[in-house]
Amino acid sequence: MKRLWQEEIKFHPKRIFLIVFFTILMAGLTALYPLVIRRALDMFKDNDPRILYQVPLLVVIVTAAKAASQYGQTLAVQELVLVVIRGLQNKMFLHLVYTDIAKVEREAPAQLASRFTTDALSIREAMIRVVNAFGDTITVVGLIVSMFYMDWELSLIAALLYPIAAVPIQKLGKKVRRASGNMQEQIGKTAALLNETFAQARTVRVYGMEQREVERAHRSFDELYNATLKIISGRARVDPIMEVLGGSAVAAVLGFAGWRAAMGGATLGDFSGFVAALLLAARPLRALGSLNAAMQEGISGLDRIFKIIDEPTQICDKATTTALPDGQGRVRFENVHFIYPGRHLGLQGLDFDVKPGLTVALVGPSGAGKSTALTLIPRLHDVQKGRILLDGIDLRDMRMSDLRSAIAYVPQDPLLFDISILENIRIGKPDASDEDIRKVVEGAAISQFVDSLPNGLNTRVGHGGQLLSGGQRQRVALARALLRNPRLLLLDEATSALDTESEYMVQQALSKLRKDRTTLIVAHRLSTVRSADLIVVMCDGRAVEYGNHETLMNLNGLYARLVQTQDLNR
Ligand code: ADP
Repeated sequence: MKRLWQEEIKFHPKRIFLIVFFTILMAGLTALYPLVIRRALDMFKDNDPRILYQVPLLVVIVTAAKAASQYGQTLAVQELVLVVIRGLQNKMFLHLVYTDIAKVEREAPAQLASRFTTDALSIREAMIRVVNAFGDTITVVGLIVSMFYMDWELSLIAALLYPIAAVPIQKLGKKVRRASGNMQEQIGKTAALLNETFAQARTVRVYGMEQREVERAHRSFDELYNATLKIISGRARVDPIMEVLGGSAVAAVLGFAGWRAAMGGATLGDFSGFVAALLLAARPLRALGSLNAAMQEGISGLDRIFKIIDEPTQICDKATTTALPDGQGRVRFENVHFIYPGRHLGLQGLDFDVKPGLTVALVGPSGAGKSTALTLIPRLHDVQKGRILLDGIDLRDMRMSDLRSAIAYVPQDPLLFDISILENIRIGKPDASDEDIRKVVEGAAISQFVDSLPNGLNTRVGHGGQLLSGGQRQRVALARALLRNPRLLLLDEATSALDTESEYMVQQALSKLRKDRTTLIVAHRLSTVRSADLIVVMCDGRAVEYGNHETLMNLNGLYARLVQTQDLNR
């Protein structure tokens, strides 16, 4: 809570002032009520004719003023809370968008997204409760003051009873905090499951998985139900406890007042005003009683958000970095080790050297570590032992933005952003001229299919680019890479077969793209491999054979076997 204050809330002094102002006004006006009632009853008893206009006027003024200040207070509170939530969301997003890919990929996207929605919601509710509690406290204090003013003996009796409530409320709060963490976790999991089912809607239908998905969702909803119920039952216990205590207080006060009246004590006005104050205090006191539980829920959400924000980013610029050196893109892997956390296979001593401008094909059985090797170059992961050099400099000594702007990467099955084709291409180089764009559109053979689209290059491609075929998506990704004009091209060749025409187009675009730059391809096609200047054959995270097609065939080793048996023989 303190951190929330220091990092977010305190930067909005104007809003805080407004809240305090309206809250005090509202609480003060509420505390005036019993006094008005007392006055009315005293006039009533004395048959005072002024009761006809003075009291109703007073009631209208007090209620109207209270309503107005309540309106102002609600607005001010909501505004502050929303601003704070927005601040947290921005911070969390900023962190996640820059942090290590491994941390982002650890959780399902929908689960991460739920941090921004459900956790934020619980924080929002808790904050509203906390701010309102501030108002409730003032109201209660005001009421207590007017109670003591009217009748201090009765007040003492009532006041003695309330502290008893503290113990069970404290206990319930802890329980609710735990339950709330569970519930938020479960909401995230449910969101991830739904996302998967809908994202794979085609597979679900074709493989008849509907029933399985229904059962999985059932289980998830069940768990969500249980987790939610746990919180609700914790929360629900607070109100009855407060109710009973409130009732006891009223009973004790009535008993004592009755006894005192028998002895000939205070006036009817005093007594009624006092009971009115006691009843008015019941609602804010109840709210204060359940405050702890609500606050714990918010703290649990806050905890999870801060945990994300605080996790340090490992892959970032060192304190001193050098700019990208001049060079044509010489890449050198030296004894590179990289193993995914919790795995025991990975790269274990990968060595190879690529001269500038050449094309290298990485081949090997699947799981050999080819794609992993590729991800190390833009530093999606960092090597754990050994090093990778680009034009003679360790990647980790280079400014990361320089490194990445020297690289273009075309993944196996590229997903596009749901924006226009043109904008998707422009990602490669945001300040590219129209002429540059026209060239790459030509180079990647995009105009052939773009011409038949309703809005040409300005057609939006749909979620992930699903309105385009696989081959078309690939060509857009290639155009993006072409536009970047990188020193280093990384390519994960598609394993899926394209239709002959697309395939031809893609190959054409590729050969243009490969010219005059160093290219690393995870290759699946014999045609690609044959045209490579160097083939690195990988097995179990190491390079076991090097050479061109002919030398490797003559070697009659793993490569020759792969060519004979695997998809390389296309
Ligand atoms: P290839 O591209 O040669 O088929 P990969 O580089 O994709 O091989 O995978 C190498 C090994 O690393 C495999 O055993 C694979 O299961 C594992 N692996 C790949 N990606 C991850 C990941 N994100 N987390 C954990 N293990 C992974």
